[in-house]
Amino acid sequence: MIAENIKSLHDRIAERCIKVNRNPAEIKIIAVSKNFGVDEILKANKEGIYDFGENKAQDFDSKFVQLGNKVTWHFIGHLQRNKVRFVAGCANYIHSVDSLQIAMEINKRAERLDKVQKILLQIKTSAEETKSGITDEAEIMDIVSQCSEFRNIELSGLMTIAPLTEDKKLIRNSFNNLSKLKDKLTSKGIDIKELSMGMTDDFEIAIEEGATMLRIGTAIFGERDY
Ligand SMILES: *Cc1c(COP(=O)(O)O)cnc(C)c1O
Repeated sequence: MIAENIKSLHDRIAERCIKVNRNPAEIKIIAVSKNFGVDEILKANKEGIYDFGENKAQDFDSKFVQLGNKVTWHFIGHLQRNKVRFVAGCANYIHSVDSLQIAMEINKRAERLDKVQKILLQIKTSAEETKSGITDEAEIMDIVSQCSEFRNIELSGLMTIAPLTEDKKLIRNSFNNLSKLKDKLTSKGIDIKELSMGMTDDFEIAIEEGATMLRIGTAIFGERDY
């Protein structure tokens, strides 16, 4: 089933790319393997998926211990300061940096490990209460400029989660806000490479709005049991 799911996902991505004149090669699929085991990760890996996303520090840690750097790891969940040690230096990317404090903690940990940690800033791009991320533009600018001073952090991109709604306009708006923020930073000379946005229910809109990383769980692994 995973093999078929991945095939049809590639087809849908390619189809949408043709529509908006984008190259599918510039869009990375991150298979969100939360609540699934290492077996499933290996199955997806066999089908040509190399990037995996986890949202809980301890779950990530246990899978990382088993698989190490056989695959590329993306940490996508809310990260508390006391859990940074499980993630920094192990995950290739941390998508969910949402405060200066966490960035500082990651930098400190990466320095101790003599590594440069790639991070993305999680931005709240909609009014929805439940979504975490940075909202205030002055705060965003502050964190971005501080990050450029941190020697053991590389700011790779911006991440957002669209609101949970049927309203496609609201979803598009949210992704478009992230895209505009990237352009704004670019115009200030800050090169931001990645836009991490789009999940199973909204990745096609995200592609249209410039996503370079899609975080896809259900469409690859099926429904999650909680
Ligand atoms: C679970 C999760 C996803 C994937 O969700 P699906 O709807 O299953 O594709 C993407 N991003 C984050 C931050 C998640 O927690």
